[in-house]
Amino acid sequence: MISRRSCVWCGLARAEEEAGERLVFADEAFVVFAPAAARSAFELMIVPREHAADFTALDDEAIAACRTTLQRALRTLTALGDPPYNLFLHTAPAGERIDQTFHWHWELHPRLRVIAGLERATALAVNPAAPEYAAEVLRSQLHRSPA
Ligand SMILES: [Zn+2]
Ligand SMILES: [Zn+2]
Repeated sequence: MISRRSCVWCGLARAEEEAGERLVFADEAFVVFAPAAARSAFELMIVPREHAADFTALDDEAIAACRTTLQRALRTLTALGDPPYNLFLHTAPAGERIDQTFHWHWELHPRLRVIAGLERATALAVNPAAPEYAAEVLRSQLHRSPA
C-alpha cells in the first residue's frame, strides 16, 4: 500500500511548508517552494500534497486545482520581468509499479539568461539566487498582484 511516511516528496513538501523560508505559497492541494538544491536561479517545485505517482490518473477536480496553482506560480515570475520558462512534469513512467516511491510534481525553470534587456533579471541570472532569496522575491509578487 501507499504510505506517505515512506515517500521523500511527501516529507519534503511538509518540511518546506513548515520551515517557510523557501516557501513561495501553499494552497489546499499544493506546496510551492524554491528547492534547497536548486539547479537554476528561481527554480520552483510545485508538489501536490496528495501522494500519487501518476499525473494522468488525476480526476477533473484535481486537474482544475492543478491549473489554478500553476497559474498562481507563473504569476510570481512577474517579479523577474515575466521571463520565458520551462515547465517540466515529472510523472511515473507508464506501466511501472513505483507507486510507493514516486510522487509526481512540476518543476518550473525561468529562463533568465535570455533576457538581455532587463538589467535586474540579468543581474539575478549572473548571480544565481539563493533559494531563500528566490522564494522571498517571488512571494512578494503575490502580494502585489491580484489573487
Ligand atoms: Zn509522496
Ligand atoms: Zn523533478
